[in-house]
Amino acid sequence: MSIHRKSKFEINLMKQAGNIVALVHAAMKDAVKEGVTTKELDELAFKIIKENKADPTFLGYHGFPGTICASINEQVVHGIPSNDVILKNGDIISIDIGATYKGFVGDSAWTYAVGDISDDKKMLLKATEESLFAGLEHMKSNDMLENVAGAIEDVAKKYNLGIVRQYGGHGVGRQMHEDPFVFNYRTNNKLVLQKGMTIAIEPMLNLGCDEVTVADDDWTVSTADKKASAHFEHTVHVTDNGPEILTKLL
Ligand code: MG
Ligand code: MG
Repeated sequence: MSIHRKSKFEINLMKQAGNIVALVHAAMKDAVKEGVTTKELDELAFKIIKENKADPTFLGYHGFPGTICASINEQVVHGIPSNDVILKNGDIISIDIGATYKGFVGDSAWTYAVGDISDDKKMLLKATEESLFAGLEHMKSNDMLENVAGAIEDVAKKYNLGIVRQYGGHGVGRQMHEDPFVFNYRTNNKLVLQKGMTIAIEPMLNLGCDEVTVADDDWTVSTADKKASAHFEHTVHVTDNGPEILTKLL
């Protein structure tokens, strides 16, 4: 495993990339409405990223055909934007966004409600967001990656939610996926966090079971029991004073 700790110069570029991702999320928050297609959201995201002189990181990544991943209800991650997917009242949609600016990547996902959602889905969104921030509290020098994972696991258990096992967080920098991999549950990981590490933390929690399946399109990951899933992610810089979220507005 090789973990590249970023210099101040590199962190500043990652902040720019993260700011662009945050700009897109701000636009998605407003654009997510009943009747909108996920393709329309994708086109809006592409436009904003390009206007900010960045590139959509996901587009073409292992052949992925979208700027965003748009995953509805029981879909966990990697949903392909489509003219055929029209948002309905009561849906939830997880939107994952990556932007590359001057060679550095920002990566952040959020799950949005479409109109009025069920109490179960409200709880799922609240709990998954809570688990992200519980994990982030441990993103400081000399803390352990295991404590990030454990904090996420504890929130999931508190709300009796499933935890997606096959996907997780990751180092991020010049590449979208760098070491280390970050499980969203305890694995007896011995990695000690150090200043300059930049890691995307991204719990994916489910109303039902842990298990997921991949669709025939080879991308869309859904829960095996078809119950709803949520996904919240930030790219975060480990500092001596705690977590510095990079995927936020500057
Ligand atoms: Mg992501
Ligand atoms: Mg990620």
